[in-house]
Amino acid sequence: MLRFQIIIIFFIAFQLSACKNDSKINQKEKTLTTKIPFALVIHGGAGTIKKEYMTDEQEIAYRKKLQEALDVGYSILENSGTALEAVQKTINVMEDSPLFNAGKGAVFNSLGQQEMDASIMDGKTLNAGAVAGVSLIKNPINAALLVKDSTRHVILSGKGAEEFARQYHLQFEDASYFYTEKRYRSLIREKEKSGEKIIIKTNPKEQTEQIDDHKLGTVGCVAIDKEHNIAAGTSTGGMTNKKFGRIGDSPIIGAGTYANNLTCGISATGTGEYSIRTLAAHEVSNLIQYKNLSLKEALKHVVHVEIDSLGGDGGLIGLDKNGEIAWDFNTSGMYRAYKKSTGEKVIEIYKK
Ligand code: ASP
Repeated sequence: MLRFQIIIIFFIAFQLSACKNDSKINQKEKTLTTKIPFALVIHGGAGTIKKEYMTDEQEIAYRKKLQEALDVGYSILENSGTALEAVQKTINVMEDSPLFNAGKGAVFNSLGQQEMDASIMDGKTLNAGAVAGVSLIKNPINAALLVKDSTRHVILSGKGAEEFARQYHLQFEDASYFYTEKRYRSLIREKEKSGEKIIIKTNPKEQTEQIDDHKLGTVGCVAIDKEHNIAAGTSTGGMTNKKFGRIGDSPIIGAGTYANNLTCGISATGTGEYSIRTLAAHEVSNLIQYKNLSLKEALKHVVHVEIDSLGGDGGLIGLDKNGEIAWDFNTSGMYRAYKKSTGEKVIEIYKK
């Protein structure tokens, strides 16, 4: 009888300790799920951006818009929205602002027209969508998302892309909506620099734009959501005075935009020809995946070795699978910002 009681006592003790271990595991799991980091990082273009070229009002306006864009994306992530949605909606804020070279305020090509490019990529499925050379779609990033979700293609261009966007009732605007005098003056300046003769009427009282904004202001966003999915997107008007029909890096998956849950998400800005030739965004991912570099090291290598050695200019923002954020650029400034679920928030413009 005594032996039977001892066995029972051991059995109960064992069960209790198993329960305790179980609850330890549950506790650990809970900590992991509640502490899943989410974050987003954005850029509003890289180029000759110096404090002395900027008025206080201009700087405040940029900072405010970057903050607004960041908040929109962050609140989507905080409310368990997807990284893709956060990227799209964050970019929409910047596309709708004339401060940036995307959507409203896009730069002009050599014919005085606006041709915009955009792309978006899902790091979970590696599915991606892009549009190139579109003129009247209010938010090109929305069209890129639609290409990803509703076609078996990756890039649609020009008239075909616009026709497709109309079928899906995306919002269109007249050319006048996208026009800004600042960008038009940039076109004139670029034409003058290249020796083209043009007669324009500018208001001589207006402050001469010192910022080299012939392409400045492409926008991009990379986000990681609570499910650990990464997405990246980029939207641009390209480069001032570009040839009619020129396509930059922004709609090229692997060049201007790339996302892969195994590694990172990247959005590029700068003279697109260099990001295309180095496949900059994908190169960062490869360096992480196959050379074991950290995101920061990989960005540094691509910007300061690969792009630099070709004589290119620009910058990259990125975020890795652990929610770590980094950026790098070889210009005097890049509009950039990030916000993490840890509470960390940074908005920067100039080189430090
Ligand atoms: N990468 C863009 C393009 O080449 C321009 C920019 O980011 O400034 O079209």
